Amino acid sequence: MPIEKRDYYEVLGVDRGSSQQEIKKAYRKLAMQYHPDHNNAPDAEEKFKELSEAYGVLSDAEKRSRYDRGGFSALGGMSAEDIFSGINFGDIFGGGGFGGGLFDEIFGFGRRRGPARGRDVEVEVRVPLKKILTGGEETVVYNRRAACPGCGGSGAKPGTEPKICADCGGSGQRVYSSRQHGMTFQQVAVCGGCKGRGSIIEEFCPACKGKGDVQEKSEIKIKVPAGIEEGTTLRVTEHGSLSSEHGGPPGDLLVTVTTAEDPRFERRGEHLYRIETIQIADAVLGTKVDIPTLTGEVEMKIPAGTQPGTVMRIPNEGLPGFRSGRRGDIYVRVQVEIPKKVSHEEKELYNKLKQLGGEKVN
Ligand SMILES: [Zn+2]
Ligand SMILES: [Zn+2]
Repeated sequence: MPIEKRDYYEVLGVDRGSSQQEIKKAYRKLAMQYHPDHNNAPDAEEKFKELSEAYGVLSDAEKRSRYDRGGFSALGGMSAEDIFSGINFGDIFGGGGFGGGLFDEIFGFGRRRGPARGRDVEVEVRVPLKKILTGGEETVVYNRRAACPGCGGSGAKPGTEPKICADCGGSGQRVYSSRQHGMTFQQVAVCGGCKGRGSIIEEFCPACKGKGDVQEKSEIKIKVPAGIEEGTTLRVTEHGSLSSEHGGPPGDLLVTVTTAEDPRFERRGEHLYRIETIQIADAVLGTKVDIPTLTGEVEMKIPAGTQPGTVMRIPNEGLPGFRSGRRGDIYVRVQVEIPKKVSHEEKELYNKLKQLGGEKVN
């Protein structure tokens, strides 16, 4: 299992601005080289998967732009199926020797060995700035499919049990024979009697109407690391939906962390931005204003003659950098309020100022 994921462009050895044609060419060449049919090195399969994942993302315009904008975390909610599903392997390898079966085996879907996993559940949680500053716990409430408490998942009315399907003897499959052109064809297909379940429910559980699962409201506490980047997806294994197949593990819970709206600040990475509106006279004469921070407030001096749009920095009052741990800054953009209505007296004074200003210029 790769511990650190490499950049997809680096994996394929192409530039960030490469065309689809160049990306396809690079992938074809490397995939041929590392294809497990051609390469017996122990890490060939891992390499081949890494290449295919990179190609799966970069060959799809939508996934590529998500990755370009937000890196791996922007793709956090995607399963291997999501990433590989768009690749037309036949188109790349000419449809001959390489094909579906092998890929299913390598990527672990299609031809599964055990029962299928349950579905992943994706949920978004909005974390207030203060908790992003310190890190902490956040409660996530979400819906998932869970075994019906009434019947324990069997779908049968409590006190009754599903009966083994008489058509298939419980295997869920039947062999159908047909004769065409004097020959007998045999085909294995899903049993029509039980729709592949192997059992038949005679009396449905009233709570789930025979489905065996119900929508359940779940709650879990997750740890939010200090300085977590916007849009990061945290994976909580096996807290997703129940598997629809007996004995299958549950899916995962994918929690995407976003910053809760805050009327005081806008978050950009580890820095916080704020607009502070002051009066014209304060801009001209200078003043002091109290600026809120995540932990209190600081006094900021506005010098005489401050221009509208001036940006002032309050160092180390932002969020901790996720990697560096160093605090970002608060940036304050000064906006000057132009009065929409003035009193008679103010109007006179502005007129006086205008005359004075005119004299200065001349
Ligand atoms: Zn039930
Ligand atoms: Zn059957």
